[in-house]
Amino acid sequence: MARYTESKCRICRREGTKLFLKGDRCYTDKCAYDRRAYPPGEHGRARKKSSDYALQLREKQKVRKMYGLLEGQFRKYFELADSRKGATGENLLTILERRLDNVVYRVGFAHSRTQARQLVRHGHILVNGRRVNIPSFILKIGDTVTVAEKSRKIPVIQDAQDVLARRGAPGWVEVDGSEFKGSIKALPVRDDITFPINEQLIVELYSK
Ligand code: SF4
Repeated sequence: MARYTESKCRICRREGTKLFLKGDRCYTDKCAYDRRAYPPGEHGRARKKSSDYALQLREKQKVRKMYGLLEGQFRKYFELADSRKGATGENLLTILERRLDNVVYRVGFAHSRTQARQLVRHGHILVNGRRVNIPSFILKIGDTVTVAEKSRKIPVIQDAQDVLARRGAPGWVEVDGSEFKGSIKALPVRDDITFPINEQLIVELYSK
């Protein structure tokens, strides 16, 4: 399967914001964006005037890369969001939030979404007591996510509580760290996503 091999920190610098793609490192003074908050490359510091299209494209790329998706996958989520009632941009974000890899990250079983995806793929995560190794699996209200019994000694997973203490869990999930368990108590709504995203720009881009 295709995947991106570009440095994650370069992605943050290009998108002009911290996307927290590297877990722990993102909270330290080693963060490349904190050190060099300008785009990578020879002309990174040059002042550029952005067109509407460029702004829309960058916003889409920012969100797509934050959730670690390929273009085709992201487009499918957009089409799904567009087919549902309500504001397409909000629908898009709330669908992305309910992906299993994102929920594993949100409940603090992993330092980053990339790590969460790896835990899911390697079979360390159960949904409602059954092993699910599909990172794109969409969770619904009442679903529980637990770490498989044998996997609880993995150092990354053992760190879960520290990770969560630093980042905090969103209001739509409930976390029981001692049981390595997270559950979906409500569907995420737009206000739950505090990361600065202008989803309307993505809608405009795909509506051209
Ligand atoms: Fe982005 Fe900083 Fe994390 Fe690198 S360390 S991925 S620049 S937030």
